[in-house]
Amino acid sequence: MDTEDKVRRLIRPAVLQSAAYHVPDAAGLVKLDAMENPHSWPDNLRDEWLHVLRDTRFNRYPDADAVELKRRLRRVFSIPDGALILLGNGSDEIIQIIALALARPGAVLLAPEPSFAMYRAVAMAANLEYAGVPLREPEFSLDGEAMEAALDRLRPAVVFIASPNNPTGNLFAADLIERIVQRAPGLVVIDEAYHAYADCSFLPLVARYDNLLIMRTLSKLGLAGLRLGFLAGRACWLEEFEKLRLPYNVSVLTQKSIGFFLDHMDVLGEQTRQIRRDRDRLIGELSRLPGTTVWPSAANFVLFKVDGIAAPVLHEELRRRDILIKCLDGAHPLLRGCLRVTVGSADENHAFLAALTALTGSAS
Ligand SMILES: *Cc1c(COP(=O)(O)O)cnc(C)c1O
Repeated sequence: MDTEDKVRRLIRPAVLQSAAYHVPDAAGLVKLDAMENPHSWPDNLRDEWLHVLRDTRFNRYPDADAVELKRRLRRVFSIPDGALILLGNGSDEIIQIIALALARPGAVLLAPEPSFAMYRAVAMAANLEYAGVPLREPEFSLDGEAMEAALDRLRPAVVFIASPNNPTGNLFAADLIERIVQRAPGLVVIDEAYHAYADCSFLPLVARYDNLLIMRTLSKLGLAGLRLGFLAGRACWLEEFEKLRLPYNVSVLTQKSIGFFLDHMDVLGEQTRQIRRDRDRLIGELSRLPGTTVWPSAANFVLFKVDGIAAPVLHEELRRRDILIKCLDGAHPLLRGCLRVTVGSADENHAFLAALTALTGSAS
């Protein structure tokens, strides 16, 4: 039997049929595709950070329980006393851990859609059934009735709700989310990846609901390269998930670096406030462009579309002008014609707007 046949015989069909997550090469481009914080750190703080790393014992395994890091995370993010936290190598890994723990035959992972692509991808990888409930047009709000009907019919083991939602940028009505938590027969994970850019958190509700888990990441805050996410919730759930977390999933460099940056939350806070101001300016300027529809955003990115130029063409024309954003056309039927731009530095936003203005001007 040749190798090709062996691969087909051994690898699960769901994996054979899927595609690897594609990350475009951004070398030399203005990178506005991945919700990264564009701001740099002052030299004196970078030097202090290197000093902290100087004595890292990289020949030793990291602290498997990350005791010191968790202590700081609890304080900085005001984790309620009744909740534990679990750390992931990014929150992507936490989604995977939850899915692995729940993957009994026939178990369903449910999410409104369009939403974060990893919910579906991880469900496939972990052998869970995925079910999506469409958001309502044109504002991408939660369809409360459809969500409740899906909960009753499919009895999902877990519901993932991103708040604010990616890629639409909006916050869903808090009372609707709470009704879903009350009605859900299984777990509800509220993914607060963009918490720093919104004025809304469901963390206090963990004390009230025993099926509610809150997920956060430090990526969108400004530390994407370090890979750290956490899950907060009741011990009864987190103790089970801990059994599936690989013991050394958070490296010594990440543990020490995040600890250092958490001691400088004032810098991160100033950067995120700046991004919020720049976001509001970007939305204002985009909405003045002819033929352009812009959705409101409580995150560090903006969803928009332009009449008269196909989204893939616009995406490619921007890339030819060295600007990389995300084309969402084709990702979901409700996203037809849509593109997503991350809020960059003032200069980057300006370069993006200038290129887009030239393109939309020539279309009309
Ligand atoms: C970016 C993102 C994540 C994943 O972030 P990590 O970098 O893996 O921590 C999770 N959820 C949503 C909604 C996101 O947009």
